[in-house]
Amino acid sequence: MSSGDFCCIFRGGLTLTFAPLIFKDFHFTPELLDGLDAMGFEKPTPIQQQAIPLILENHDLIACAQTGTGKTAAFVLPILHKIFTSEKRHLNTLIIAPTRELALQIDQQVEGLSYFLRISSIPVYGGGDGDAFVQQKRALEQGAELVIATPGRLIALLNSGQIRFSGLQHLVLDEADRMLDMGFYSDILKIISYLPADRQTILFSATMPPNIRKLASKILRDPKEVNIAISKPAEGIDQQVYLLFENQKKALLKSILADEKYKSIIVFASTKENVKTLEKDLAHDGFEIKGFHSDLEQAERERIMIGFKSRKTRIIIGTDILSRGIDVEGIDLVVNYDTPPDPEDYIHRIGRTARAESRGTAITFVNEKDQRKLRRIESLIGREVSRQTLPEALGAAPEYNPGAKSEHRKKPSGKNKRNFRKKRPDQKKSDGR
Ligand code: AMP
Repeated sequence: MSSGDFCCIFRGGLTLTFAPLIFKDFHFTPELLDGLDAMGFEKPTPIQQQAIPLILENHDLIACAQTGTGKTAAFVLPILHKIFTSEKRHLNTLIIAPTRELALQIDQQVEGLSYFLRISSIPVYGGGDGDAFVQQKRALEQGAELVIATPGRLIALLNSGQIRFSGLQHLVLDEADRMLDMGFYSDILKIISYLPADRQTILFSATMPPNIRKLASKILRDPKEVNIAISKPAEGIDQQVYLLFENQKKALLKSILADEKYKSIIVFASTKENVKTLEKDLAHDGFEIKGFHSDLEQAERERIMIGFKSRKTRIIIGTDILSRGIDVEGIDLVVNYDTPPDPEDYIHRIGRTARAESRGTAITFVNEKDQRKLRRIESLIGREVSRQTLPEALGAAPEYNPGAKSEHRKKPSGKNKRNFRKKRPDQKKSDGR
């Protein structure tokens, strides 16, 4: 897959704008809103804003979105809502994913988001022993409402003749381009031949090459289409991360800024207050720095920009308003003093350096609370960002444990309390079912 395949790229460094929806605007059932709350999802991502209303309205859908954009929840949320509010729930939804890892990942999100709903899901994937096959078959016969399957194993189960998809209402193909790259085209068509024609079909793909269009035209009916535009960070950016505690940030920033090899620097902080305090502190320490934020008059902002472009000001510190639209050549360092809240913002911010084929460095500070944000950034850019060691004088850094917050998830209570937890097929054996 070449990067040129990505179906839409931000033009001129600008993002698409969306009406600022919140999850309540989708009229989700309260139990699903509780699940979102427990997962720590505060607002829908752009792909969720676009795809959820269309799926709720029962349209077939082609969605072009990469891992890291929140694409899984974009189809899982409306489907869970529809299953929860539907009369016919038996084997309602089939999600097909290219790999066992992705199938398990989707299942985990389904488990998290459906925590307060009585909806059962089962991942069905190859590998394992004959027992696993028998257990998956039994679990399917017992009637999971949502099945997440890899194509090969699903065909084997279909060939065994015992799974009925007659009541199926939703089919999702996730990472469809990868499935075709892996040679699953005819398997997918075979699986679909077992499914009722009267269903909603949703296809997610990171790219839209012609073979995906061909598949879509065969299996989707009058589909709507949504695209989420993400450009990959330029190759010339040396991306680095420091895991650290909040109170170590300022000292680290000062030591980085003291390195004279960096001639032109942008520092991003998340709030105006942070920008103002840091500007004052660093100026006091003798750094040539200017703060850039929305409290400044336009004329003042322009003056600051002129000073920065002409290299009179070495460092500019600002909020995200700095990351869009400004086109300054020759910035050699971007520092994310606070981890960007959205992975897309990370790409915008670090895109201020290494413009026009030049090279640059992007350093991101990640405190222990922001490690999940780092995980999302890494899944969006498709690779791990190189971890740096804190200077010894700053003391020990936190461990990397991005899942830590989920351990404090709210537990169900009162009428929503489930008296069963979904089990994976391999767990069914141990509890004797
Ligand atoms: P995906 O693109 O589906 O692989 O999702 C990437 C990551 O984003 C996963 O860790 C999700 O849990 C997380 N995520 C998805 N939607 C949201 C949201 N609305 N707010 C915060 N995190 C989200």
